[in-house]
Amino acid sequence: MNITKKNSPNKYNGRNGWKPDMIVCHITEGSYNGAISWLCNPASKASAHYVVAKDGRVTQLVDLRDGAWCNGTSTNPTSNVYYGKSTLKAVRDRKTNANYYTISIEHEGRWAENKGKLTDAQKVATIELIKHIKREVETIFGIDMPIDRAHIVGHYEVSPISKPNCPGGNFQFDEIIRAVCGGIVTPSTPPQINGNFKVGDDVTVKRTATKYATGQNIAEFVKGSQYTIKELKEDRALLSNIMSWVYLKDVEVEASSAPILKEGSKVKIIGSTYATGQTIPGWVKNGTHTVSKISGEKILLGANGGINSYVFKKDLTIIG
Ligand SMILES: [Zn+2]
Repeated sequence: MNITKKNSPNKYNGRNGWKPDMIVCHITEGSYNGAISWLCNPASKASAHYVVAKDGRVTQLVDLRDGAWCNGTSTNPTSNVYYGKSTLKAVRDRKTNANYYTISIEHEGRWAENKGKLTDAQKVATIELIKHIKREVETIFGIDMPIDRAHIVGHYEVSPISKPNCPGGNFQFDEIIRAVCGGIVTPSTPPQINGNFKVGDDVTVKRTATKYATGQNIAEFVKGSQYTIKELKEDRALLSNIMSWVYLKDVEVEASSAPILKEGSKVKIIGSTYATGQTIPGWVKNGTHTVSKISGEKILLGANGGINSYVFKKDLTIIG
């Protein structure tokens, strides 16, 4: 796989005699490039072996022979990162700094946005990266690193008190482990569809709406305003900007999805007279006409070999 290499000064030389057999997954609070530059900055006193971007790019900052400064544990029982506070038996049993025997992967993301859920490209890159790491560990250290939930772990398991949200509850541990072991990668959940609505739809809150799903009154300025559906749940939608749950019965998909009258539109005539006031014959009314020109309320139809007549806009219906 394609891995860009950089050298972070933030690391141990060697691993204090340990061999790595555990991969710790993390999430960043910033961008890929931001994370790389921070983790290479001596002032941060932090690093990771790898950083995986949302688009699947991977950069290595620390050699696997060296310990990165990413998920250190302390031997001091009063410390928040005391090894004895880990939920992982291996970390408690080893009674030393977890940076010595772990390999760390940072993932570009923001916990607040997606609770650690990787993008599809990022997930595929992480799967390939873990396969690569496993081969490297075998070559360098001569050990066959097991690929399971005891060896592919989250920072929150190493240090539950200081890092409860790293990488976040939506991180796809099981799927990644299955895929590394030869399983099939399933794409992330398709856009949710709820009746006629799906996430990303622009909707207008109906004027007749009265209450949010929480029971609170809907403010007047919200009625008739347009929002984007951020999330759907049964009979309700979470709307952008106001970030409130509204019943689906109280919203409608923007009318802008209806065809717009423009040059080239196909129309039928529903009125009975031309713009001149003359009566429209039946054969013209039964036909389909092409809009040639729009002049305010007057629309010229069929200038090129058609009826070549003006009709009022109100007397037309758009069919395509
Ligand atoms: Zn972390």
